[in-house]
Amino acid sequence: MPTVYGEVVSTEVLTPQLVRVRLGGPGLEGFAAPAGTDAYVNAQFLPDGAAYAVPFDDEAVRDLPRDERPYPRRYTVRHWDDEQRVLTLDFVVHGDVGRAGRWAQRAQVGDRLQLRGPAGSWSPAPEADSHLLVGDESALPAVAASLAAVPAGRPVTAVLEVEDAGGEVPLDSPGDLTVRWVHRAGADGPVEDLLVAAVAAIDPLPGSVSAFVHGEAVATRAVRRLLLERGLVDRDLLSCSPYWRRGMDDEQWRSVKAAWTREVAADVP
Ligand SMILES: Cc1cc2nc3c(=O)[nH]c(=O)nc-3n(C[C@H](O)[C@H](O)[C@H](O)COP(=O)(O)OP(=O)(O)OC[C@H]3O[C@@H](n4cnc5c(N)ncnc54)[C@H](O)[C@@H]3O)c2cc1C
Repeated sequence: MPTVYGEVVSTEVLTPQLVRVRLGGPGLEGFAAPAGTDAYVNAQFLPDGAAYAVPFDDEAVRDLPRDERPYPRRYTVRHWDDEQRVLTLDFVVHGDVGRAGRWAQRAQVGDRLQLRGPAGSWSPAPEADSHLLVGDESALPAVAASLAAVPAGRPVTAVLEVEDAGGEVPLDSPGDLTVRWVHRAGADGPVEDLLVAAVAAIDPLPGSVSAFVHGEAVATRAVRRLLLERGLVDRDLLSCSPYWRRGMDDEQWRSVKAAWTREVAADVP
């Protein structure tokens, strides 16, 4: 993955939970068009008071003490404009916590962000008879990009968890789109159960089903189990990824993610 950096050219508050940041400038010269609709970059967020600035030498910072090294965070390529060479990322802002979320909330034109990528090559399977996309705000950029790649007229259902009606964003697809919004605000029961309950309530999709289930770890695990146990999707066409874990920051989450992924694989052998 090549290392490049972008300069903020604009910011836009999409919803109270979602901020769009567009990056451009000569530092993106080596950035290549992403291969899939869930492609992501590994962005580097500098610690407060860092003694270096973007662009920095990846190798040179690698051996610094933990609290002086950049904090890596993955963000989906919402859009890459190959002609203008502008990269669009949508960041969830979740209170005054999160190195990436806070950076996005405060980003100003001219701020710089160093990143590696893109990586990731999943896209909705063109041969599938229908499509299912499930996630929370962190998956919205990939869901929106994937919806655009669903073949014309193909049934596609998106089940999306957001805070409340103010967290909903306009979504469009050449496919025959049904969107089911799920609101955390005012919901009964554990927040991790909201998506699985909503997915359990939709009508089964016809034929072979290509599915994308990304977002909070516990919620996506429950959805995966339901889809496979009930045979609602084709296992070979299921992409499931725990992007983040409630109660853990990304460093804590990455330290247990491999073990978690093994457990999830054993849920429905
Ligand atoms: C391949 C991939 C693609 C991703 N794409 C995107 C994307 O396009 N947009 C995006 O916003 N996120 C995306 N994520 C998720 C993002 O990398 C994580 O949410 C990350 O932890 C955010 O970092 P942070 O520094 O803001 O918060 P952290 O420092 O990691 O966490 C601080 C606290 O905030 C909580 N937290 C973290 N994320 C969220 C959230 N989404 N909602 C509520 N609380 C949260 C943590 O549990 C922790 O308690 C992606 C993840 C992966 C693996």
